[in-house]
Amino acid sequence: MTEHTKGLVVITGASSGIGAAMAQRFSEAGHPLLLLARRVEKTEALNLPNTLCRKVDVTDATAFRDAVKEAEATYGPVECLINNAGVMLLGQVDTQDPAEWQKMYDLNVVALLNGMQLVLGDMKARKSGTILNVSSVAGKKAFPNHAAYVGTKFAVSAISENVREEVADLGVRVMSLCPGAVDTELLGHTTDQAIIDGYEEWKDAMGGVLVADDIARTALFMVGQPQNVNIRDVVITATRQQ
Ligand code: NDP
Repeated sequence: MTEHTKGLVVITGASSGIGAAMAQRFSEAGHPLLLLARRVEKTEALNLPNTLCRKVDVTDATAFRDAVKEAEATYGPVECLINNAGVMLLGQVDTQDPAEWQKMYDLNVVALLNGMQLVLGDMKARKSGTILNVSSVAGKKAFPNHAAYVGTKFAVSAISENVREEVADLGVRVMSLCPGAVDTELLGHTTDQAIIDGYEEWKDAMGGVLVADDIARTALFMVGQPQNVNIRDVVITATRQQ
């Protein structure tokens, strides 16, 4: 095992948007990384030092676990897991294809729980470690066409806070980070073009949204605090976002 002064950070969904920006920031801060996504070539193209890139669909709990074990064999125990992978498929409940909300719950909620389970036992035993779950401002309030997605993100915020309370006295930190609209690939997976167009108009009307690095800097600030300081829950939006 190689010795590193900073601990291993695992980032799910690191092939684009917020996850890729976090990979850059945490690497610059000196952390070895495990980057997970299905488009592994995009994580490899980041070309970061002390970084293992693995093609993993994080809804596959076995593949997720195998990649974490492999990274730990090289870089030591996971210091921080960032559950960032997520999908947003907007629609109205009466017309949306149920397969879309199944996909969102499987990834945004179930895979996140699986990730927490992968690392929590060891963090509790070591009385150290951090889990940062990427929720959303949609984990705090409603938005048009967001019902199923909002449900997943309220779940992320609730799970984070519940587990935070459970492990706090062991010195393990659980945090949630709730971005407002950020310019990434996220909206592009919605299948209803009229909803996409309306969302783009909303973004333009507020004079633009955040960029992924705004979220990455915030995540590094949260995780980079001493282990006895837990910035539990952060909402970060464009100033003009309602
Ligand atoms: P992107 O679509 O750019 O990134 C999503 C990432 O998730 C990609 O790297 C994608 O990689 C990965 N991913 C998707 N499905 C899987 C899977 N099954 N297994 C592994 N990785 C997967 O969007 P963002 O960067 O915006 O999203 C990141 C997080 O931020 C999400 O949780 C999102 O809900 C949240 N968020 C985003 C906001 C925004 O406005 N952009 C606002 C609030 C929260 P790949 O396809 O290669 O597998």
